[in-house]
Amino acid sequence: MSGKSACRAVKKRGGKAKIYEDDDGKFTPPKAAEYDFAIVSPGLKHDHAVYAYCAERKIPTMGEAELGFRLAKCPTVGVTGTNGKTTTTRLIASMLGGTACGNIGYPITAAVDTEKKALVCELSSFQLKDAHISPDVAVITNISADHLDWHGGADDYYKCKCNIASETDGALVLGEDITVGALKSLDTDARLVRCSTTRAVDGAYIENGYFKFYGERVCPVEYLRLPGRHNLKNALCAVAAAKCMNASNIDILKAMSTANCDPHRISDIGTARGKRWIDDSKATNVSACLAAVDTLEGKICLIVGGRDKALDFDELFSALPESVAEVIAMGESADSIRKSAENLRYNGEFYAVAGLKDAVCLAADSKADTVLLSPCCASFDEFKNYAERGERFKAEVDALRSGK
Ligand code: ADP
Repeated sequence: MSGKSACRAVKKRGGKAKIYEDDDGKFTPPKAAEYDFAIVSPGLKHDHAVYAYCAERKIPTMGEAELGFRLAKCPTVGVTGTNGKTTTTRLIASMLGGTACGNIGYPITAAVDTEKKALVCELSSFQLKDAHISPDVAVITNISADHLDWHGGADDYYKCKCNIASETDGALVLGEDITVGALKSLDTDARLVRCSTTRAVDGAYIENGYFKFYGERVCPVEYLRLPGRHNLKNALCAVAAAKCMNASNIDILKAMSTANCDPHRISDIGTARGKRWIDDSKATNVSACLAAVDTLEGKICLIVGGRDKALDFDELFSALPESVAEVIAMGESADSIRKSAENLRYNGEFYAVAGLKDAVCLAADSKADTVLLSPCCASFDEFKNYAERGERFKAEVDALRSGK
């Protein structure tokens, strides 16, 4: 999507552009002679042959996101983080009356054509690698381990996240709980704006039932329609970014009170076989899963697993509360999840199954109050993406309900 959009954006401005695609993983160098620059898909690792091809010919490379920022004619906000990007991006866009774009599924190079007020761009670590961008306000919601397979380790992942502010001299909003280690490569001229749910900080915080910003009451916390502690943290980042962009308190309040979570994020899909079923298919890392567990009451049967991203499942079992009475591990990563359950002496029930269908069958007989699909893994071993995994989960639960 972003490649096609970049191509259209170049042509619209009188340039010439051509799209090249991998032939089943093999890079076929283009025949045409000269290029001013290449836009490379954010999915491609930087050891892909296209980077070597461009380096040899001194063709500068950039991502679609960077092109979008270069073309933007209105103020911009960039939002990154391990979790909460989409939710926070939507909240800020709503507070500012701007357009949510980027990794959210609407290319920045498309949004630049229509938006005049503010572009609020969700940026993944892939999009940020080597990107030269300078949003007026940058936001890092949180940083924990993710995509370590792609980045080859935590350091590169952290560096990419920090890169969101390396050329910004506006404001950098830092979500709660970001460790010093994760920010060690942060190098920015931006003003740091902090967030906290528990104490007054230089920035956005919660005090006496209000979201506050540098001492000013912005909006009562009860107006926020999104559930869970993690969404309070997202909302604080949004308040901080919106205030830095001069949003009015009334616009912030309206956005809080009309906010919705996108699908597959701790979505209640109803009851079946005497239990509540929750679709949190978008939870593709350990910290997102722990946030979901934290929002639920009663005994939980947790379904995890899928394509492993080199994450450490010991982190999951060392933090799981006792309310998680059963864990069902599915798919390619089931074995490594089992090893962590054994390492950490998880003392609930543990099962490993081939895939989602078997996991739902097993969970149907669980004694828990709630079955939570919150996989800590990518979906690509069984599905096209997390949305398809969530839809299939719902279909399996519907089938249980109708007794099929
Ligand atoms: P992203 O765009 O970064 O993937 P989303 O807002 O789409 O973030 O949420 C993805 C997953 O992360 C969901 O499972 C959601 O419940 C969880 N999540 C959202 N915000 C946070 C947060 N601040 N901390 C931990 N988990 C979160």
